[in-house]
Amino acid sequence: MKLSLFRKKSPWILHYNAGGCNGCDIEILACLAPRFDIERLGMINKGNPKQSDVLLVTGPVTHRCRERLVELYAQMPEPKVVVAVGTCACTGGVFREMYHAGKGIDRFIPVDVYIAGCAARPEQIIEGVAKALDILERKSKEIEKPISLFGEVSEHDGETDRRGMAGKVGGGKN
Ligand code: SF4
Repeated sequence: MKLSLFRKKSPWILHYNAGGCNGCDIEILACLAPRFDIERLGMINKGNPKQSDVLLVTGPVTHRCRERLVELYAQMPEPKVVVAVGTCACTGGVFREMYHAGKGIDRFIPVDVYIAGCAARPEQIIEGVAKALDILERKSKEIEKPISLFGEVSEHDGETDRRGMAGKVGGGKN
């Protein structure tokens, strides 16, 4: 059986709050609790970047969190996928360009799936992780080939734009 199949059936998750209000984090924890119970889909919240396949990030990325976020991402083995959970992680949300924060996590690390909402609902998070698993499977196959891991990166208004290949869940961004 191919390695990519094991990864898709039993992904391990790393959750990081990059300076959000905790609203989205509570929804992620709700996904782990018995009502939504994503463990039944084979997912485990590991808390160790070196053993994780999926990085769930909430919050707008405060200046203090920036370095830690990039470190955690760098410590995860390839292939890996990043899910921006909530409007803050997608665009900065209510904290956008305030004195302590920026415009979301894709200014610092590549994002594979954006989940809109303030807070993102558990159903959206589960759908977003399912989309991320499809991308993870594709990346696994690409590693097995191997070819380039990332899609096209373009410049927009002087800033790096990595949204071309990302999946989306939910409505428009705030
Ligand atoms: S999107 Fe809303 S609920 Fe989620 S961290 Fe930001 S302010 Fe909090």
